[in-house]
Amino acid sequence: LLSSTASSVAHSSLLRPAASGLFSLFGPVVLSPGVRSPQLQAMTFRLYQIMSASLRAEIQAAAIKKQTGVSLKYLLDFGMQPLERQMLLSARFLHSEIPIRLAHRLMDLNHLPPGLSEEPHVRRVKGWYAESFADFRSFPPIKDNMDVVRFTAMLKTAFRRHNNVVPAIAKGVEEYKRDLERKGEPSQEHVSEIQHFLDTFFLSRIAIRFLAGHHISMFEPPRQDHIGLVNTRCSPYLITSDAVSEARAICFREYGGAPQVTVLGNTGLTMAYVPSHLHHMVFELVKNSLRAVQERYSDSDLEPPPIQVVVAEGLEDVTIKVSDQGGGIPRSGLQRIWTYLYTTARSPLPDVDIDSTNMPAVLAGYGCGLPLSRLYARYFGGDLQIISMEGYGTDAYLHLARLGNDEEPLPGAV
Ligand code: ADP
Ligand code: MG
Repeated sequence: LLSSTASSVAHSSLLRPAASGLFSLFGPVVLSPGVRSPQLQAMTFRLYQIMSASLRAEIQAAAIKKQTGVSLKYLLDFGMQPLERQMLLSARFLHSEIPIRLAHRLMDLNHLPPGLSEEPHVRRVKGWYAESFADFRSFPPIKDNMDVVRFTAMLKTAFRRHNNVVPAIAKGVEEYKRDLERKGEPSQEHVSEIQHFLDTFFLSRIAIRFLAGHHISMFEPPRQDHIGLVNTRCSPYLITSDAVSEARAICFREYGGAPQVTVLGNTGLTMAYVPSHLHHMVFELVKNSLRAVQERYSDSDLEPPPIQVVVAEGLEDVTIKVSDQGGGIPRSGLQRIWTYLYTTARSPLPDVDIDSTNMPAVLAGYGCGLPLSRLYARYFGGDLQIISMEGYGTDAYLHLARLGNDEEPLPGAV
């Protein structure tokens, strides 16, 4: 990894030595003695290297530019045009749009309270964003199909670079929270400021990864009924069935048993949607229900009541309801379930290595299942609601807007 990034840095005309000493856009860059991982040290050093004065100026200039939203309908119509022309237009759009979005997020990261902004995992994330920004900015204008091929390869590298942003930010926030709690209860205002930042940051990440993934997948062999990442005949029933088996397998592994899940309603329905997003959301909801029911019935001789998933088709929305009898959530706790890192399970984060490929699959404990799923739903104009009956169970309503003309919600748009 380091050698490939080093060569991309060498080729970038933007990356001249910093003119203003150790002070970068991200404040003084010091190799914190608390940072022991050699890779982390190397990355911190890389951050210092790439923060040239001209790059900082570029990031600042890009961060005041307006982000341009796209509608899914536009992307689907786009898919109808002859492929070469379409790829050229798509590459040009991403070439100008992605660095603007990256710059907005870099500025947000930089404006966080210093304890969070300078936390080593968060600094690493800033390094990834800055590196990708530099890659985009040093890429010459896209003139022909050869440029498109090279651009797409660069896009793929950037996409992979950002794979572990969620666990890295989660670890950073966890460290910061621990630090705050040592100093006393953090103020409500402070907590909601961080919450707002994370909502904005993760929504933007979903958007960038969707646009990039959509472009990249147009280069892959065509799949039936797919336009890029969108399956025009996506079946909520099939996706739900897959997510249920996967979630039950994890429940089995952790508890030695798993409640039954029944899927009812319009099983033949298909709609245009992004299967990976839908899978993510249903998987999170079903995991939550499995855990609640399993824990409630663990000491009982009674058979745990099955979880019910219902798929309903409306004119405006397709709604998926996940109902369980896992005892519900107390009304006073309902606000908290939407905050990042709030969990009533043991957090697996201390064991997560952000240099390894992925976060280990667990039934619960990251505390981002609900807030991230709601962002995925909202990205395409849908929503997620949780209704609880304490002492009985929980209903989750996942509304999916039939994909149309709605533009992407753009966080922090100036
Ligand atoms: P995690 O599952 O990692 O804890 P989530 O964001 O998915 O994070 O959920 C946050 C918390 O909300 C859970 O820890 C749990 O306390 C509560 N919760 C979510 N769904 C349910 C449910 N169906 N029944 C009871 N409690 C739930
Ligand atoms: Mg969960």
